[in-house]
Amino acid sequence: RQELYRELRKKPSSTKDGMHVDLLMNAGLAVDLPQLAESGAAGIGLFRTELQFMVAATFPRAEAQERLYRDVLDAARDKPVTFRTIDIGGDKVLPYFKSVAHEENPALGWRAIRLTLDRPALLRTQVRALLKAAGGRELRIMLPMVTEIGEIMQAREVIDREVRHLSRFAHDLPTLLKLGAMIEVPSLLWQLDELMRTVDFVSVGSNDLFQFVMATDRGNTQLSERFDPLSVPFLRVLKQIADAGHRVGTPVTLCGELAGRPISAMALIGLGYRSISMSPAAIGPVKAMLTELPLETLAAHLEAALEHPNAAKNMRADLLAFAEQH
Ligand code: PEP
Ligand code: MG
Repeated sequence: RQELYRELRKKPSSTKDGMHVDLLMNAGLAVDLPQLAESGAAGIGLFRTELQFMVAATFPRAEAQERLYRDVLDAARDKPVTFRTIDIGGDKVLPYFKSVAHEENPALGWRAIRLTLDRPALLRTQVRALLKAAGGRELRIMLPMVTEIGEIMQAREVIDREVRHLSRFAHDLPTLLKLGAMIEVPSLLWQLDELMRTVDFVSVGSNDLFQFVMATDRGNTQLSERFDPLSVPFLRVLKQIADAGHRVGTPVTLCGELAGRPISAMALIGLGYRSISMSPAAIGPVKAMLTELPLETLAAHLEAALEHPNAAKNMRADLLAFAEQH
């Protein structure tokens, strides 16, 4: 199989009927970087910057952050990298940072962009490190756990201020700065068009989005058999997002665990996703699926099944049958 995946790296990243799909990888530490070449990923769709914070004993200094970001961009060369601003809080606790005494529902608590907007020095330091590391090249910044568009505006102000600050001191700035948001909180589903017009790109965090849409703790193994992301309600949510992206013309990626399993990756592509980001080890198996996928047939099949769900009550079984058949 490894041999097959290595061979596949030379093949175009397209479905059997010729639709191109970007297969990106998720990363978070310098040790992940060699995987970029080994996996054949088209870029880094999600760089989880909080990992550097989680493995450290104190807040990483601005210089250490800048060094890591520069190493990542150097390793990626001309492949795109999307840096997510620190997503701490919730299940990602920093032992050296006591957020609040006790949270009844940490997943719904003071985390990610909520925390960084309340502690702007954290965001400012990180943004400055990113801007400096990306001098002379493209920079893509993505905000986690956005609940309302105002949060993006606030973060953009912080970024703009840092850009002005660096240009005043004649620093080499990024040639292009793109700002994106993760779709992880269901409130965004009712602001999709405005959201898509506000940002340069979005990325679905299906791990958290599923947890919140289905009211199902992503870490609770007692529930792991109970609800299926490949079910009618969640597939409809995912389709709504892909459709809004096409309607407004904003690029949409999905970077949750769903992207890394061939059967769910197949469903995503059938729903209209043209860019998915996964663990590097998943790229080979997903590409093997991709190159054999008759996309037009699948898209029509899915559309009908989601419109008339009684025709396919068990979507997972239905998708597996499609995969078997094709
Ligand atoms: C997600 O929620 O799907 C996601 C990609 O972010 P994380 O897993 O880091 O919360
Ligand atoms: Mg998440």
